[in-house]
Amino acid sequence: MPATILNGKQLAQQLRSELTEEVVEFIQNNGVVPCLAAVLVGDNPASEVYVRNKRRACEGVGIESQLHRLSSDASSDDLLKLIAKLNKDAEVHGILVQLPLPPQIDKNRVLSAVSPNKDVDAFHPENVGRLVQGRPRFLPCTPQGVQQLLVRSDIEIAGRHVVILGRSEIVGRPLSIMLSQHGAGGDATVTLCHSRSRDLSSITRQADILIVAIGRAKYVTAAMVKSGSVVVDVGINRTDAGVVGDVDYEAVAAVASAITPVPGGVGPLTIAMLLRNTLSAAQSLET
Ligand code: NAP
Repeated sequence: MPATILNGKQLAQQLRSELTEEVVEFIQNNGVVPCLAAVLVGDNPASEVYVRNKRRACEGVGIESQLHRLSSDASSDDLLKLIAKLNKDAEVHGILVQLPLPPQIDKNRVLSAVSPNKDVDAFHPENVGRLVQGRPRFLPCTPQGVQQLLVRSDIEIAGRHVVILGRSEIVGRPLSIMLSQHGAGGDATVTLCHSRSRDLSSITRQADILIVAIGRAKYVTAAMVKSGSVVVDVGINRTDAGVVGDVDYEAVAAVASAITPVPGGVGPLTIAMLLRNTLSAAQSLET
């Protein structure tokens, strides 16, 4: 039987239409429009596209967005001053610092300077700590997108063996925490793999749900996947043949029971979750 395609684009549309209704209700109740401030340092073309897409998505659900630009030679202090201003601005509910930052800027200092209440990417140490303790303020966007995709596709997570490839701070590590938490969307047995993991195939072949976020085009082959498993591909790799994931899609779709495409899988959900977090930030700051 061919694998079910887990259509992230369609789910993101559904999530956005749910959000649109919630935003209308929020504005009616509070007389305030939720607002996301994006900070873009330098002129990295990929970052320009990401920020543009995020702002368009905001507009689509009725969230206001601001763009604050700093030049590529801006210092950490320049950026910290801007963040301090946005932290104090009562009209701004969410702050997004687009990564990567130029090398002269101390990324950790900057991300720790964003008010935890406006930290819609959930990168602030306080928000990471809260996530680990099982009482999150915001869930990080890409992991939240993956979790929602599984939950809303009625894929059972509890009690199953989830294998995650990649331990980055933005995807693999927080996702491993979220899926192993108590309660809805969690209760999985999670194995987190990375570049030092030995005999990767023997681990990935044990996965009921295999989630791949390593940034290596078509790295996961059919031989690495258990028949009937669910495969979620977070990877985005730009190749001569276009954008591809970390999974060899055609071959793996022949053995998996369900699989995400790239593009059109996890990517659109990440932005939907950023909108969700911005509305949550506005709800907790205004009510
Ligand atoms: P990252 O920070 O570069 O981390 C990559 C992780 O993969 C590291 O933990 C690394 O291990 C591990 N790794 C690398 N090669 C490996 C191998 N051969 N076997 C096992 N593990 C390996 O990457 P990231 O930021 O998490 O992004 C991963 C991918 O997801 C990228 O393609 C990125 O573009 C994509 N992404 C997509 C979205 C979305 O919205 N869809 C969002 C974020 C990222 P070590 O820790 O040992 O180095």
